[in-house]
Amino acid sequence: MLLLGCHLSAAKGYEHMGREAASIGANTFQFFTRNPRGGSAKALDLNDVARYRDFALQTGIPVMLAHAPYTLNGCSEDEKIRRFAMETMADDLRRMEATPGNLYNFHPGSHVGQGVETGIALIAQMLNRALFPEMTTTVLLETMAGKGSEVGGRFEELREILDRVELQEKMGVCLDTCHLNDAGYDIAGDLDGVLTAFDKAVGLDRVRAVHINDSKNPLGARKDRHEKIGEGTLGLEAIVRVMTHPALRDKPFYLETPNELEGYAREIALLKERCA
Ligand code: FE
Ligand code: FE
Ligand code: ZN
Repeated sequence: MLLLGCHLSAAKGYEHMGREAASIGANTFQFFTRNPRGGSAKALDLNDVARYRDFALQTGIPVMLAHAPYTLNGCSEDEKIRRFAMETMADDLRRMEATPGNLYNFHPGSHVGQGVETGIALIAQMLNRALFPEMTTTVLLETMAGKGSEVGGRFEELREILDRVELQEKMGVCLDTCHLNDAGYDIAGDLDGVLTAFDKAVGLDRVRAVHINDSKNPLGARKDRHEKIGEGTLGLEAIVRVMTHPALRDKPFYLETPNELEGYAREIALLKERCA
């Protein structure tokens, strides 16, 4: 069964997100655990969580994807920023145990001139401090566009991070089609080649979610600017090939395209029709 949803606002709580997802034909969704620019999370409303869990069970929303704030940078050169990142992630992961068995995605970080090897070591250190053996959430490293000093634009970098994490079984990867294109992986022209390279470097069994975005930029631009499905350099057919590929079609897919709810509803309807 196709698992497809989009990014939703968490402002009105979990139950609202579940109902909103269902109202636009989605059976999964993504949300920010807190303000994407950082800051503190509002207190969990356990009644809302309970209502959401009932609704999700009844409606058939088997999984959701929480996204860490963009500002979380576990490989900053500033010790205070690194500590904040680790504490934010640890807090998010504790809170997520109220909704067990879901996914938590984060941008590996930017090494800001310290070099990619230092960046990788610091990201792994953050994960080794924030993850805990009892947790039921899977933590996903997102594939990045390689903008500036971003870590995670190369598959080998993701592999190096994963190799250093103690709680291996808690870790996975989230592919992002816009980021892959902007990083120079030609998913529109050679999807099989890209997936083979990913399999060799990381292992396709590590893919636990896919962000579905068209890109405003040419292959290898290292820019990271999302476009609506079919309006960018990837095009609708390339997106459909990603979503129907035997190695990916069972994964949950999330739109992060520049849309309001109605636009997301249209993209979901189109992709359901094309990928059914
Ligand atoms: Fe992201
Ligand atoms: Fe993404
Ligand atoms: Zn992006």
